[in-house]
This record gives sequence, C-alpha cells and structure tokens, in this order.
Amino acid sequence: MDFRFTREEEVFRQTIRDFLQQELPPWWEGIEALGTDEGWAFYRSFVRKMGAKGWLNMHWPKEYGGMSATPMQQLIFTEEMAYHCAPAQIDLGPWVGSTIIVHGSDEQKRKYLPGIATGEAEWCIGYSEPGAGSDLAAIQTRAVEDGDEYVINGQKIFTSLAHRADYCWLAVRTDPDAPKHRGISMFVVDMRTPGITVRPLIDMAGLHTFNEVFFDDVRVPRE
Ligand SMILES: Cc1cc2nc3c(=O)[nH]c(=O)nc-3n(C[C@H](O)[C@H](O)[C@H](O)COP(=O)(O)OP(=O)(O)OC[C@H]3O[C@@H](n4cnc5c(N)ncnc54)[C@H](O)[C@@H]3O)c2cc1C
Repeated sequence: MDFRFTREEEVFRQTIRDFLQQELPPWWEGIEALGTDEGWAFYRSFVRKMGAKGWLNMHWPKEYGGMSATPMQQLIFTEEMAYHCAPAQIDLGPWVGSTIIVHGSDEQKRKYLPGIATGEAEWCIGYSEPGAGSDLAAIQTRAVEDGDEYVINGQKIFTSLAHRADYCWLAVRTDPDAPKHRGISMFVVDMRTPGITVRPLIDMAGLHTFNEVFFDDVRVPRE
C-alpha cells in the first residue's frame, strides 16, 4: 500500500495553507476569541469565504453546496485547520444539514441547505433542559398542534450560540402519552419568532457561548 499523498492531495493541502496564511489575522489565537464581538465578526467573514469554496461541508454532494470530497481531502483539510487553530464552522449547521439531506423534504433541502453550505445561516441545537441532559428522553418542552401551527412552551439550557443563531434545531415532546423515549419530535424554529427569550450563561472564563432559551407560546408553522 502506498501511504504517500497523491500530487492532487498535496496541491489541495497547499491551497488550504495559502488560504489560511492570507486570511488568519496575526491576533487570531484560537476559538476562545469567538466569545468576543470582534472574534465573532472575523469568524463570520472567514466562514463565508470557506463556504464560497465549498469547504464548510466538503463531504456533501456538490448539488448541496459541498465538493463531494474524499475522506483523504477531509483529513487534509481538518489537519491544516487544526494545525493553524483556524475556526471551522462551529455553529451546529453541519449536524442539522446532514440530517436534512437524509430525512428532509425537497422543500426543506432547498430552504435550509444553501445557508449552511455558504455559512450565511447560523444554527443552534436545543436538546438539553434543566432536567434533561444525558437523559435526553426526560425533556419537558412541549409542542401542541393548533391548526396549521404548533405552539411550543418550555426551556432549553446550555444552548451554544443561541444568541447568534438564525435557527434552532429543537427537540420537543409532541406526544405526552407515549413512553418516555418516544413521542419526541424535531422542529426547525426561526430564532426571530415572537415568544423566544435568550438569556446568556457566562462561563468561568467570562465568555458568552452558552445560553438559556425560553419558549413562551412560540408558534411554528407546519412544514
Ligand atoms: C461545550 C458544551 C456545549 C454544549 N452545547 C449544547 C448545545 O448547543 N445544545 C444542547 O442542547 N446542549 C448542549 N450542551 C449540554 C450537553 O449536551 C449536556 O451537558 C450533556 O448532555 C450532559 O447533561 P448534563 O450537563 O445535564 O449532565 P448530567 O446528565 O446531569 O450528567 C452529569 C454526570 O452524571 C453522569 N450520569 C448521568 N446519568 C447517568 C446514569 N444513568 N448513570 C451513570 N452516570 C450518569 C454523566 O455521565 C455525567 O458525568 C453542551 C455542553 C457542553 C459541555
């Protein structure tokens, strides 16, 4: 077996190195800077530049904004990003996007995947609650059907980047009579929807990454 990188892979590595050398400012020391407004502003523009190259979710098919990257290309990219302490896409969009590719409708793919692939849209994940961490099946946040909408009430906690997010990928209980590990549904919630309150949780380093998120009669259309 030949363990050397191919010529194309070496060129790809050099392309990433050149990009990082050009784009990472001298003051950038790693993702801790994301807790500041200046760091966040840099991250946003940096991520969009990577999105324009199809690098954010490079394993995705080209039709969804990736570059159908090989495992070796992904390895090279990850190695170079880590070596330079460069901020990869740290919002939760890639998790959500991959799920939408597998389980989403064509309309959901058209609506949500481009923003994730280009880095335009920021996502947060609403799983944990004050009484539901490792035991996620204990979630209490509820969604009740009301005509063409669902009405959501409850609270999430440790929601990374909720204060920056455009959308929340939210786990809620839709069937309170089902056994504990069933009756849970996933919703996409626009974070500008009335009834959502985001309250910061400041960590021990004094940075703001986590939040509590409260849902008070938040109406989400059925998709
Ligand atoms: C950096 C970071 C980012 C995060 N971002 C998000 C986010 O964006 N969205 C989100 O929803 N959540 C987020 N979380 C929350 C995370 O998912 C929860 O912290 C995690 O699920 C654990 O829940 P908990 O903190 O309530 O701990 P607990 O569930 O209370 O667990 C505490 C300890 O008890 C142990 N334990 C629990 N149950 C058992 C058992 N039955 N038997 C033996 N041991 C047990 C656990 O292993 C752990 O050591 C984030 C957490 C971190 C650290």
